[in-house]
Amino acid sequence: MFNPYTIRKDFPLLERKINGKPITYLDSAATSLKPKPVLDAMWKYYTEYSANIHRGIYQLSEEATAAYDQSRKEVAQFIGSRRVEEVIFTRNTTEALNLVASAWGRSNVGGGDSIVSTMLEHHANFVPWQQLAHDKGAIFLALPITKEGKIEQGELNKYITRTTKIFAFSAASNVMGVVCDVPAIVAHVRKLSPSCLVVVDAAQAIPHCPVDVAEWNADFVAFSGHKILGPTGIGVLWGRLEILDQMPPYQFGGDMIKDVRVNETFFAPVPQKFEAGTPDIAQAIGLGAAVSYIKHLGMENVRSHEHKMVSYAFEKLQKMKGLTIFGPKNPNERGSVIAFGLDVAHAHDIAQVLSEDNICIRAGHHCAMPLHTFLGLKATARASVYVYTIKEDIDALIEGLEKVRKIFT
Ligand code: PMP
Repeated sequence: MFNPYTIRKDFPLLERKINGKPITYLDSAATSLKPKPVLDAMWKYYTEYSANIHRGIYQLSEEATAAYDQSRKEVAQFIGSRRVEEVIFTRNTTEALNLVASAWGRSNVGGGDSIVSTMLEHHANFVPWQQLAHDKGAIFLALPITKEGKIEQGELNKYITRTTKIFAFSAASNVMGVVCDVPAIVAHVRKLSPSCLVVVDAAQAIPHCPVDVAEWNADFVAFSGHKILGPTGIGVLWGRLEILDQMPPYQFGGDMIKDVRVNETFFAPVPQKFEAGTPDIAQAIGLGAAVSYIKHLGMENVRSHEHKMVSYAFEKLQKMKGLTIFGPKNPNERGSVIAFGLDVAHAHDIAQVLSEDNICIRAGHHCAMPLHTFLGLKATARASVYVYTIKEDIDALIEGLEKVRKIFT
C-alpha cells in the first residue's frame, strides 16, 4: 500500500524544523529529498569498501566494482533498457546531453544541417544544441509550442525535414507541467526524417512515471539521479548500442581505454568508452539504491499519488483570486509541477514570503528563458510534488499564498 505518511518516515530531512516550524518541501522538481536507504548505501560504500573500481585485484575493489556494476543493472532494468551497456553514467542530465552534442554532433553535424529543439526546453536541452549549430555552421530552430506548452504534429511537419540531424525535446516540462506522448512524437519525427537523431530529456519524466525506453524508441534519453531520490553528481545517458558503438568518446583518459601506444589509442567498449576517469562511485551506488527504493513503491503508484496531489492543489489554486496557472488546465494532462503567477506579487516575493514559514517553492525562469519569453514573463513561481508530498503541504502552500496576497494588497 502506497502511504505517503509512512514514506515520509524514510526521509530524515522531513524531521527537521527551522525556527520550530516543520518544512513544507514543494521543490522536488529542482531536486528531490533522499530516503535513508540511499544515504545508507553511500555510507556503507564509504565505511566498508571505499576502493576504486575496475583496478584493484583485492576484495574491497572487487566489492566496489560489483556494487557499481549492479547499479548500472538496476538502472537498465528500471528504464526498460534491453542491454546494460546502453546505460552510461554521467554527472547529470546536463552532462548527458552535452555528451551527445559533443560526441555525436562533432562527427555527424555539418554546415547547412538543421538541429531542432523546442520553446519548452530547459537550457540543458537547448543551449548545447544551439552551440553545436553555431560551431558547425548548422541551423538551430526552436519548435513553437501551444499556449499550454504542447508539441503539435503540425509544427513538427513544418520544422522537421530531411536535413534535420537532431530533434531534442523533453518528455515532461519543468515549468508547464505538460507530459508528452513520447512514442507518438518519436514515431512522427521518424516518419518525417528517418535519419534524424531523436534525443529525449527525461529529467522530469523518469522520476515520476513508468518509462520503457525501448517503447519510446528514441536514440538517446537523459535524466538526473538527484531528481529521483538519488544523490547529486550522478546522471544517466541511455543510448542505442549501435549508435554508441560508432560514436567517438566524449573525454579521454583512464578507464576508457583498451590499449594505448605512443601514437594511437584503442578505446574500451561501451559503456567504459564514455566514462573516463574515476567515476562517481558512491553516487552511482546511491542511484542504484534510489531506483530500487522507488521501484518498490511502484511507478504506477507514484504517478497516481502525484496526480492526486496535483489535482488537489489545482482545485484550491483555481479558486484563488488573481492566480494564474501556466500549462494545461486539465490535471490529467500534467506531471508533478505547477507553475503559477499571482497578480499582486512578483514570483520572488511569493517565494520569499512562503520561505518565512519554511514553505520551499522555486521562483524565477527555471532555466527556461526562451519559454518565459514565449509566455511574456520574466519569472514564475513553481510548486512541485513527489512521493512524500501530503495534502497538508498543499494546504500550507495555499495558506501561505493567502498571506502573500494580504501583504501585497
Ligand atoms: N531538463 C529538465 C526538464 C530539468 O528540469 C532539469 C533540471 N531542472 C534539467 C534538464 C537539468 O538537470 P541537471 O541540472 O540535473 O543536469
